[in-house]
Amino acid sequence: MDLIIGAGISGLSYAAAAGGDCLVLEADDTMGGYCRTIKRDGFVWDYSGHFFHFQHPSLRDFVMQRISADEMLTVKKHTQILYGGRHIDFPFQMNIHQLEQQEFIDCLCDLFDTDPGAAAGTFKQMLYAKFGRSIAEKFLIPYNTKLYATDLDRLDVDAMGRFFPYADREQIVRNFRHPSGSSYNATFLYPREGCMRIVQSVASHVDPSRISLGERLLAVDPARHKATTNRRTIDYDRLVSTMPLPRLLDLCGMDYDHSVYTWNKVLVFNLGFDAKGPERTNCWLYVPEGRFVFYRVGFYDNIIGQDRMSLYVEIGFGKDEPVGDTGALLERTLADLRAAGIVDGQRLVACHQVVMDPAYVHITVGSEADKALQMKRLAEHGIYSIGRYGGWKYCSLEDNMHDAFELAQRLHQAR
Ligand SMILES: Cc1cc2nc3c(=O)[nH]c(=O)nc-3n(C[C@H](O)[C@H](O)[C@H](O)COP(=O)(O)OP(=O)(O)OC[C@H]3O[C@@H](n4cnc5c(N)ncnc54)[C@H](O)[C@@H]3O)c2cc1C
Repeated sequence: MDLIIGAGISGLSYAAAAGGDCLVLEADDTMGGYCRTIKRDGFVWDYSGHFFHFQHPSLRDFVMQRISADEMLTVKKHTQILYGGRHIDFPFQMNIHQLEQQEFIDCLCDLFDTDPGAAAGTFKQMLYAKFGRSIAEKFLIPYNTKLYATDLDRLDVDAMGRFFPYADREQIVRNFRHPSGSSYNATFLYPREGCMRIVQSVASHVDPSRISLGERLLAVDPARHKATTNRRTIDYDRLVSTMPLPRLLDLCGMDYDHSVYTWNKVLVFNLGFDAKGPERTNCWLYVPEGRFVFYRVGFYDNIIGQDRMSLYVEIGFGKDEPVGDTGALLERTLADLRAAGIVDGQRLVACHQVVMDPAYVHITVGSEADKALQMKRLAEHGIYSIGRYGGWKYCSLEDNMHDAFELAQRLHQAR
């Protein structure tokens, strides 16, 4: 029997692909993990904005099998950066020509002072090496430091993988005249009723009697293939876990290097207002400046076409940094939204908050090395750790589905 830990997109995708003899344990009372939607006072909010880019048509078809076409919106992505009181198109490095003249000259000269072949040992060094001092220090470093809540010198060069919008000098200069508007995707899909619709579609392929909600894994005996939960002890053949990797290693009683696993957490305020705000076209805004508490603000009203402003606001914290008084942070957030010109007289009528912990794992040379070692040791005991947090990586929901399907296929073929 396959025992699956977590009914987020990874656990449910694995269960859907493996079929038959499996049991999914979910500590929470609801499925979805981070892909969860809240509906309040006519507003539809996710835990944080969850938008979908399908690179594999087969995965898109699988999700869409149980979702009607009119439930799914295809949204043209328009995103900008709030920089020095003005809006600059994202990604910053491709749109330096939109800066004031002196700043543009600094960015351009520094870009041409770089050595494109230079080696970089860390994420921060890579930003300087590829884009030069001005682009790095005006946007890439402050924004990503706010998001990751750590010194970027700690992160691996490739910490963001394909999600980092690389551009070479030629592409940057060409974009001055012929804007491509491209970051990593030009359009995205979003269900009118929120991201949870995707999870429901995948879950509909799993026999509901094989999903146990409110059941938390408490301990694992890897040698004897026994799992203890808050309700019972379960014998399994294979254990597929989607909980954060370090927590799984703790429950298995395994030795590992705790110090290499760090992450940020994100406080998300979902805010509903009584009227539309001044921001009418952006799906979300990147906010690098330290004077604003948030690093990103998203506009559900622009995405789903609503006549009242509906925002998600994200604030990053280090893993050990206390979130503190969320009431005071909400006041600060509202003041900063007004200072940024995002709110100009609209009244807050609904609010929801959630802390995503972990949110973005810190991919470092140390975490990659220890992860490889631990995954090997776990597999020797029939334990597989997958998903964004189980796999300790930066990835999308589609990647989670892909990895889960692939593992199910591999393990079931081998049986
Ligand atoms: C701020 C933010 C924005 C994002 N935006 C996007 C986006 O726009 N598009 C996109 O594709 N992806 C996005 N992502 C990524 C996406 O949320 C994840 O890739 C995905 O939700 C991970 O799913 P998962 O099933 O691997 O893990 P999770 O969703 O974390 O699910 C793990 C499940 O395991 C359960 N669990 C944990 N411990 C136990 C235990 N001991 N016993 C039983 N159950 C347990 C948890 O309750 C949870 O339900 C975003 C992530 C963040 C943080």
